[in-house]
Amino acid sequence: MLKANPERLWDALMELGRIGETPGGGARRLAMDALDGEARALLRRWLAELGLAVATDRLGNIFARREGTDPDADPVVIGSHLDTVPTGGKFDGAYGVIAALEVLRRMADEGLATRASVELVIWNNEEGARFSPMTMGSSVFVGDVALDFALSRTDPDGVTVAQALEALDEPGETVAVGGRPFAAYLETHIEQGPLLKEAGKDIGVVTGSFRARYFVASVTGEAGHVGPTLMEQRHDALAAAAELILGIEAIGRARGRDGRSNAPHLELSPNVRGVIPNAVRVSCDIRHVEAGPLAEMEAELRALCERVAAERGVRVELAQYFAFGPIDCHAAMNDMVRGCCEELGLSTMDILAVASHDAIPIMGYCPTALFFIPSETGISHNEAEWSTPEQCAAGADVLLAATLRAAG
Ligand SMILES: [Zn+2]
Repeated sequence: MLKANPERLWDALMELGRIGETPGGGARRLAMDALDGEARALLRRWLAELGLAVATDRLGNIFARREGTDPDADPVVIGSHLDTVPTGGKFDGAYGVIAALEVLRRMADEGLATRASVELVIWNNEEGARFSPMTMGSSVFVGDVALDFALSRTDPDGVTVAQALEALDEPGETVAVGGRPFAAYLETHIEQGPLLKEAGKDIGVVTGSFRARYFVASVTGEAGHVGPTLMEQRHDALAAAAELILGIEAIGRARGRDGRSNAPHLELSPNVRGVIPNAVRVSCDIRHVEAGPLAEMEAELRALCERVAAERGVRVELAQYFAFGPIDCHAAMNDMVRGCCEELGLSTMDILAVASHDAIPIMGYCPTALFFIPSETGISHNEAEWSTPEQCAAGADVLLAATLRAAG
């Protein structure tokens, strides 16, 4: 059975990881910043070396196409993303792109012809760390998010996505976003938790997801001098936010392994040492496997906001801005991936996605499979994120086998 070249795969992943490498061995490439631009240029160069036509769409998604023998067949698309969070690792997203590159390289080595074309995609701005919302490129591609809305999003410095794309100044043709069918989409990704390693399995086949709801809690208090203002006089928005944050954490902790809750981002005004904070925006989310408990968690979150508002004399408004899950996975695609694993002698387990991935918006667009390789350190969005060369090679072997099956 045809397999990936493990050394070439690992070397490419490590070479990519040197772009934006952090002191702790991770990577920092925020979507469309100069380092992400370098990473995109490196991939474009490697794809051009394979003689592939490379096109970028108006949202910065990159496609490289290896023609099939049947010009009427829709393409099989494989890939992931190159952007990272500010203190990210070398594997999240990057691994899926490099595994897809290795598939195309291996096909070129062997001079393989497939019926359907095979396309590598690099989805722009999966992380949403610089520009919200996350999974932007894939969501616009499938029509879940409007192109003009996405292009107008700003980073903390007021730079829009449209301006950031222009600053990349990439050569070549710019094509329309979406509007063409895929025969199938395949993505491999590192697991972002410890479950595969705990279970001692090689590949996790994503068969469903947590349900997640994302909110902003806007806390409005009253500004005042931090000295003369009596303690009894205060309506400190940040102190109220601190109570909210601990309350939010407790909501997830009460659910064991089936629940999650987070409050990872604050916007603080005026954020000056001499002034009691009068406005804080707390971004938060709740996640659960099942709908009923998720609804209970949301009710607890709303009650928490009301209690903190009443006790501290502040206003707390909760607004939902994003949701994902449950997802509709494609049973036949997952069976096909499991079949490839079996032929390769790799063990599998079913696993739920707890975070969004580009494959999730794509699931509503075409037959899709998303599968994970184990994380040695059990963590992600951290410089210590790590999978071994063997684990990386196994996932690429599965991607290669599944791509060839899907493309005929
Ligand atoms: Zn990712």
